[in-house]
Amino acid sequence: MSDAELVLRSTRVITPEGTRAASVAVAGGTITAVLPYDAPAPEGARLEDLGDHVLLPGLVDTHVHVNDPGRTEWEGFWTATRAAAAGGITTLVDMPLNSLPPTTTVAHLRTKQRVAADKAHIDVGFWGGALPDNIKDLRPLHEAGVFGFKAFLSPSGVDEFPHLERDPLARTMAEIAAFDGLLIVHAEDPHRLASAPQRPGPKYTDFLASRPRDAEDSAIAQLIREAKALHARVHVLHLSSSDALPMIAEARAEGVRVTVETCPHYLTLTAEEVPDGASEFKCCPPIREAENQDLLWQALADGTIDCVVTDHSPSTADLKTDDFATAWGGISGLQLSLSAVWTEARRRGHGLEDVVRWMSARTADLVGLRHKGAIEAGRDADFAVLAPDETFTVDPAALQHRNHVTAYAGRTLYGVVKSTWLRGQRIVADGEFIEPKGQLLTRTD
Ligand SMILES: [Zn+2]
Repeated sequence: MSDAELVLRSTRVITPEGTRAASVAVAGGTITAVLPYDAPAPEGARLEDLGDHVLLPGLVDTHVHVNDPGRTEWEGFWTATRAAAAGGITTLVDMPLNSLPPTTTVAHLRTKQRVAADKAHIDVGFWGGALPDNIKDLRPLHEAGVFGFKAFLSPSGVDEFPHLERDPLARTMAEIAAFDGLLIVHAEDPHRLASAPQRPGPKYTDFLASRPRDAEDSAIAQLIREAKALHARVHVLHLSSSDALPMIAEARAEGVRVTVETCPHYLTLTAEEVPDGASEFKCCPPIREAENQDLLWQALADGTIDCVVTDHSPSTADLKTDDFATAWGGISGLQLSLSAVWTEARRRGHGLEDVVRWMSARTADLVGLRHKGAIEAGRDADFAVLAPDETFTVDPAALQHRNHVTAYAGRTLYGVVKSTWLRGQRIVADGEFIEPKGQLLTRTD
């Protein structure tokens, strides 16, 4: 470690081998060694003693709607990446829709990269979008470095991003499989949604009935069938229905290449506690019952669900009306995701190592970012420093998100992020940010 510029020392460093007291040496933005706690810092290296605060790898959030350019009044790269940094996230992958243009051609990708370049406080990558009419754009986007392609099986909520019916889905999946790309899918069956009872208004139970579990189950079954036939890689976005878990586990046991994510709101909020008219809790698929949530936690514990991502999808407050049928569907979660998940994980007897696996290691794996997601030599020196036993009460006005609408308002959460580090630089500490130093990432495999 003679060339180390910086040493971070903590009694609790979360490494792939477990949590231990260690000194982490950093040079040139990369972790050069994980050393014994009392290893002497080399001459000239700056020692940061973190005491008992936990040093964990910066989180990798692979599901974020930044909406920039085009709907920057909803969010934007400046605010999204500040909020993420404040919450211990050091890498995000931006969803292809809700921005204008959507990321569905290489030219559109270039536009988004240009917009993000000077505003990114953390590292930013991009998903491409698969539409009924852009199959010819998929391979060029893959070669330009998107991490995979998002498709909807039901209407997306914005007109410029139409969903794929059965045949276009199969054609899209075959095209992406031809270059061994990754297809990520919003899985709700539009025909099941159409036949579900539709009662507009402020009652959450009516909204929940309009987005039933079997709409998710049916779409996931279709996805698994196609993926199996084509030996394609597919990823189920924001799983909410626990009824789909047995078929997912069975498909994986048979060798189908399917991975699954869920989100902090499905793991920490329940349908029973959503007040009528409170559309800050609206998302699709919806937050479901407490007994459903228990099964999602069980699936995280047994590995059927791979990872946890925010699906941060904000809007302006005026679109969050008290009619669940027409209010914007999306939950803001970037800044609070680590604390929200840790609070519930802790209550259920899980450790911070588990949270790190779900929110950093596995998400980095999903997108092939082998230099992220762990504290070990050779990886980027991206860290969050967490006081896991300290609590705070969520004050919406204090959040860095552009819009201060949050389903977590007033909740007391465990886990205060003390500082966040990107490639060996402290990018935020106690609410003070440095100038943006994030880089734009492209697929490396
Ligand atoms: Zn989303």
